[in-house]
Amino acid sequence: MAKPITVTSPLMPPLESFLPYLEQIWESRFLTNCGQFHQQLEQALAEHLGVKYISLFSNGTLALVTALQALRITGEVITTPYSFVATAHSLLWNSLKPVFVDIDPHSNNLDPQRIVEAITPATTAIMPVHCYGIPCDVEGIQSVADTYGLKVIYDAAHSFGVRLGGQSLLNHGDVSVLSFHATKVFNTFEGGAIVCQDEKTKRRIDYLKNFGFADEVTVIAPGINGKMNELQAAFGLLQLRHIDDALARRRTIYERYYDRLAAVPGISLMSPPANVEWNYAYCPIMVDGERFGISRDELYERFRAVDILVRRYFYPLICEFPMYRGLESANLDKLRIAQQVSRQVLCLPIYPDLDVATQDRILSIIIEGQGA
Ligand SMILES: *Cc1c(COP(=O)(O)O)cnc(C)c1O
Repeated sequence: MAKPITVTSPLMPPLESFLPYLEQIWESRFLTNCGQFHQQLEQALAEHLGVKYISLFSNGTLALVTALQALRITGEVITTPYSFVATAHSLLWNSLKPVFVDIDPHSNNLDPQRIVEAITPATTAIMPVHCYGIPCDVEGIQSVADTYGLKVIYDAAHSFGVRLGGQSLLNHGDVSVLSFHATKVFNTFEGGAIVCQDEKTKRRIDYLKNFGFADEVTVIAPGINGKMNELQAAFGLLQLRHIDDALARRRTIYERYYDRLAAVPGISLMSPPANVEWNYAYCPIMVDGERFGISRDELYERFRAVDILVRRYFYPLICEFPMYRGLESANLDKLRIAQQVSRQVLCLPIYPDLDVATQDRILSIIIEGQGA
């Protein structure tokens, strides 16, 4: 039986090229606790991404949880229902109250006007997501944050390498949190990072990810263990040598999907705004069942039947899960756009090694399925 086609496949440089790193690790017996590969990767990423301060983590979720601690966020945080559950889970792990507001139909990201409407005296922060790596309205969000004195914590898990107006997208907000999970554009098996804007905040984040230790005898807070290990960091350094090529290949694949599908009635695709250098992290299509002929879920089942594992990112909405359902802001009547997008979206396979023949099989299922 043929191997199923997955929605993504991790970027893995040739095994031989990883061996020299492994030999160094074996020789040094230095496996974790911010060793030389950890330091090298922080420096290399800061340069590659065009950011000043970055702290590596063992995964993106711990980075989110720690970012909220570092900024001492309390009370209510305004966030999006249209994301991966880890976004809102990081709030619950800090005993914070998520307040869900609706998204903008073009970017699928938080709508600044809706944010303003949801502010209460308990609001202290906004946690937006650059969904699929498409930038939020960062100016609009910053202006709301400045007016109301709120912190902005971007969940930038999808945003590796994205640039806005020639600048790293990660330099917006108080902090931005990356994920280097195997399914993401850049991976360290598992991993993540917080980008921040000043040295003091970086120092606090570094203490917090190491149990709160400031030095051997000083513990400044009940920190967590969120450190990235040397094996992960070494893999990141290796991966960085291949990332530009991987992004270029993603772009070629995305553009081929776009060219073949743009004219199909009832199917729409995203195109990044002109001032954005996108990372082509995902290929979401919106299926308007009435115009296309079959529903999103019927199309999903057709793919599944031939072992093409397309995904409905993000369905259901976060606010539909049991731990969020009881919140006042989880009422779907006020989240109409997010609800509609969630019912129409389908993410097609996209990864650097996806070959043309496989892409053609994927395309033919959509093109032959229309009007059926
Ligand atoms: C992947 C992801 C995370 C979690 O990152 P992990 O590294 O898997 O813990 C958080 N938020 C979003 C939007 C994600 O896609």
